[in-house]
Amino acid sequence: MEEAKHFIGGEWAASSGGDPIPVVDPSDGQPFTTLARGTAADIDAAVQSARRAFDGAWGAASAAERGRVLHRLSLLVGACHEELAQLEARDTGKPLKQARGDAAALARYFEFYAGAADKLHGETLPYQNGYTVFTIREPHGVTGHIVPWNYPMQIFGRSVGAALAAGNACVVKPAEDACLSVLRVAELAAEAGVPAGALNVVTGYGHEAGAALARHPGIDHISFTGSPETGKLVTQMAAENHVPVTLELGGKSPQIVFADADLDAALPTLVSAIVQNAGQTCSAGSRVLIEGSIYEPLLERLAAAFNALRVGPAQADLDCGPLISAKQQRRVWDFISDAQHDGIAMAAHGEVIAQAPEAGFYQAPTLLRDVPPTHRLAREEVFGPVLAALPFNDEAEAVALANSTPYGLVAGIWTRDGARQLRIARRVRSGQVFINNYGAGGGVELPFGGVKHSGHGREKGFEALYGFTVLKTIAIRHG
Ligand code: NAD
Repeated sequence: MEEAKHFIGGEWAASSGGDPIPVVDPSDGQPFTTLARGTAADIDAAVQSARRAFDGAWGAASAAERGRVLHRLSLLVGACHEELAQLEARDTGKPLKQARGDAAALARYFEFYAGAADKLHGETLPYQNGYTVFTIREPHGVTGHIVPWNYPMQIFGRSVGAALAAGNACVVKPAEDACLSVLRVAELAAEAGVPAGALNVVTGYGHEAGAALARHPGIDHISFTGSPETGKLVTQMAAENHVPVTLELGGKSPQIVFADADLDAALPTLVSAIVQNAGQTCSAGSRVLIEGSIYEPLLERLAAAFNALRVGPAQADLDCGPLISAKQQRRVWDFISDAQHDGIAMAAHGEVIAQAPEAGFYQAPTLLRDVPPTHRLAREEVFGPVLAALPFNDEAEAVALANSTPYGLVAGIWTRDGARQLRIARRVRSGQVFINNYGAGGGVELPFGGVKHSGHGREKGFEALYGFTVLKTIAIRHG
């Protein structure tokens, strides 16, 4: 595969310095291409190019025109669906069917924001006699987007789709571990009519290109998805320029299962919510809290489901692919070995198929039972296919356990009791709550984001558009 370059000002651009970064296929551990290693000078070139587009053609485009461009991009992504899915599967290791789902979601993000672009407006406000007062929503200007490796296409689409629809010009720093699909989509965006400079992608390491973007004085807003530690660093750098930041930092999301739940409906979702993308999902359902009276029988069914899971290369299209990198594989394995060292019982685990290349970054999905609520496995994000099971006795204890981590992104509640559904939904501290489902199929329309260490600000839906605009109040005194 040809070496990848940055996409700046509508053109491919080589790095201004530094050795290229090898891109490794997680399915076999082998490098297959390289990325440009972005420098502060590359970021600066991208920010300047974005500013020119914002002050020029893109800033002058009407909301309806921005919508038409995004609609064309959605159609182009649809036409390249299989190519993008294959690229994403190779780059991230995710099973092909999941990569195909991600490509479909990317097209849907652009479709949704295409339709929303000219429906974003301010309000008229009742005020003193003799005045007419109204608000208008304006784009920030140049927005920075730091994207992680777990869902490169989807997270790019949700962030950049909303920012462009609102009229911003974007500079994107995708993750060094996986970003080939993002580069291809930037090229498609130019084909769809996004003017040169309105969408720039600079690849490279976080501490170099990422940090240069976060601290650049020419950026007006930053959207970051990744770890809480890096999110804090990005916030500190952006604060130097008083730049607003939206953070999406993952979670330790609970699924709470009561004895009256429809367990046949819950079971496959409890499994898929942690196995999807090999558990490398910010909203993964990584804790299952089970009412005492059904703890043993449900664990038995969960164990049988985990034992049947098969793991292999992206192209084998099994339940689970490899993890993204050797570093992530070590991190996940450390959690499991710590748990075993602390006497936590492994209830079940899946199987890595014999044909999986030895150098790939595989980890069998693992179910751990009776995890003490204070153990790191019950509190910290593993970002791997590891499910922690904990029993509870009553509703109050279920809520206390659900809220007992530093995170608050998503919660699932499984019960047939309608009043209980609402009581718990109101008491759980998280940005999204799903009742008798988990994730609602991902809906791009549904505002998404966290509380506590899961971050702040909202992505997806109309809320994301509000986040990518600033409100201006205009008061006219006419007597
Ligand atoms: P990370 O937060 O370091 O990386 C995310 C993005 O931030 C990447 O594009 C990276 O290049 C960039 N980045 C890194 N350091 C930076 C810096 N100093 N300044 C600006 N940008 C910087 O995450 P990671 O190291 O790839 O993964 C570590 C853990 O983070 C994972 O195990 C997981 O728990 C969590 N994570 C969460 C998500 C999520 O979707 N919420 C995504 C990826 C990782």
